[in-house]
Amino acid sequence: MNTVKSLRFTCIRCGKCCTDKNTIVNLTYFDILRIKNGLKLNIDEIIDILGFYTFDKPLSSEEEKRMTISPIETERGFAFIGLLKNSSGACYFYESNDEKCLIYNLRPIFCKTFPFSFGILKKVNNEVNAEIDIFYTEKGKKFCLGIGKDAPLIDKDHWINLGTRALQELKKNHNLIKEWNNSVRIGKIIPTVKKFLIIIFKLENL
Ligand code: SF4
Ligand code: SF4
Repeated sequence: MNTVKSLRFTCIRCGKCCTDKNTIVNLTYFDILRIKNGLKLNIDEIIDILGFYTFDKPLSSEEEKRMTISPIETERGFAFIGLLKNSSGACYFYESNDEKCLIYNLRPIFCKTFPFSFGILKKVNNEVNAEIDIFYTEKGKKFCLGIGKDAPLIDKDHWINLGTRALQELKKNHNLIKEWNNSVRIGKIIPTVKKFLIIIFKLENL
């Protein structure tokens, strides 16, 4: 098993993580707000860059629990919200001629943290000071060309800081989705994507 100290990676910009047709570029509500503000998009323009990846069958609560980002109830069914994909299955924001991300500084947290995932090892007083474990994701191990014995050792502090932020954002995102899905299930709200986005937009003013 790898320890944080022995993880090796450098991004060689092969573009595989942006062009894999089986990968959904999942978004947290923080990602949506960053992209909205960075690109100065209104609510309809945001909807135009989102993909709604629906399930053909209902998920069990066990399956739902195992997911890093939970799907939400929408008018199109139970769905993951991610960035739209182009006709070849690559991310909408991948520029294949220059092999670059068009929203690099605004890219979602999953893009920033790829090929790593994080877990809390030990809580110290609060989650800000929690000890973070870092490991390669399965997709990372499968196709990231930046991982390998010839790659440099990772900058541990950089990745721990990023991992800590990612875990905090994921937790808040999880709570928001849980509240949304519960409200839909008890008939308190009718699930429309637009309504979900309005709730997210209001959060940034809190
Ligand atoms: S947002 Fe950028 S980094 Fe993320 S998958 Fe799309 S092109 Fe790649
Ligand atoms: S697959 Fe790995 S090396 Fe290739 S662009 Fe993505 S992060 Fe970089």
